[in-house]
Amino acid sequence: MDQSELQRLAQANRERIIAFCRELVRTPSLTGEEGRLAEFVLEAMEALGYDEALIDSAGNVIGHIRGGSGRSTLLHAHLDIVDPGDPRRWTDGPYSGALRDGYIWGRGASDDKGCLAAQVFAVALLKEAGLAPAGDVYVAAVVGEEIGGLGSRYLAGSFHPDLAIIGEPSANTLRRGHRGRCEFIVTLQGRSAHASVPAQAINPHYDLARLVLALRELDMHHEPVTGGSTVAPTLLRSDQRSANVIPGELTLHLDWRNAPGESPEDAMERLQALLDDTLGGETIYSLSVRTDHVVSYTGYEQDVRQAVAPFWMEEDDPLLLAARAQLQQALGREVGVDVWQFYTDGGFLYGAGVPCIGFGPGDPRMAHVFDERLAVDELIEGVVGYMALAMHMGAVSG
Ligand SMILES: [Zn+2]
Repeated sequence: MDQSELQRLAQANRERIIAFCRELVRTPSLTGEEGRLAEFVLEAMEALGYDEALIDSAGNVIGHIRGGSGRSTLLHAHLDIVDPGDPRRWTDGPYSGALRDGYIWGRGASDDKGCLAAQVFAVALLKEAGLAPAGDVYVAAVVGEEIGGLGSRYLAGSFHPDLAIIGEPSANTLRRGHRGRCEFIVTLQGRSAHASVPAQAINPHYDLARLVLALRELDMHHEPVTGGSTVAPTLLRSDQRSANVIPGELTLHLDWRNAPGESPEDAMERLQALLDDTLGGETIYSLSVRTDHVVSYTGYEQDVRQAVAPFWMEEDDPLLLAARAQLQQALGREVGVDVWQFYTDGGFLYGAGVPCIGFGPGDPRMAHVFDERLAVDELIEGVVGYMALAMHMGAVSG
């Protein structure tokens, strides 16, 4: 099979792929409300001739086509979208799915419905053309990506493919990893008093100031490709609402991006040591990871710790080199390799021992912005890329 065959297949089905992607955009799927979209994707997989398609208890849609005796490959994308904000700021409305100027417009077009549409069709077109992949191929459309990976945490606990292709916008170039993210909460407890008699209080603001300044000087984990770990103080809350009362308790949120080589546990240990070194006063301090109770549209629930591991693949990893060679051949051009600035669900699969590679149509800068859009040509090229990876990666050993 030569590269032009995959190109020809994708081009011959261009209108179907575009129509499918537009329908995905027209179906709102805020986190926790992915049910209607999940049903739509399931029905599409059934109609497109997948060997098997189901919705698991977390609400993820899993499609499967059988391949040869090679290794299994998972194509992974997410169903959920972030809130579109003020609908008046969207030229065509947030869920228009309009086709204009060579783009599909609407919330989710780039993040992540273009990737999802391309994956669903890539596998279906191989099947329709009678092209058998080297190994079994799965497509997972997961829930809850935008608020801590509920669906992928569930998936990673029950399913271990030999390779996962993480579909998030990368403009059809490769991604070999990203930093993780930990949301830490530091609580500083002093003693409240009337602001006119500060001597009677233990004002936690002073320890807070020491902590914030110490954070700026903290020597962070170094990693040249991702730029290394970073930490930023973000939300600050006081237990008081009056300006003439000294607070008894302050709560500070820290957004810690952990570079490859630093696990969430490593980061927490470093932060605990910093607290112990810096806060020797009368304030009682504690450190925790933000945990949210999350319920999916199916009723599946879990306490989600906001601590995501990085995923990482070395530059000379045989799987990465093979994926690059396959893509370059199928797309007929150079395919660069980079890292993502944001994190993805790849961290959960990687953490469960699944090698991950990132690839997807769409401009990463289009994620989470007004007038989000996806270039149609990129969508079609993405289908070709996923077809090549689904077809051949099962023959590569890691
Ligand atoms: Zn995304």
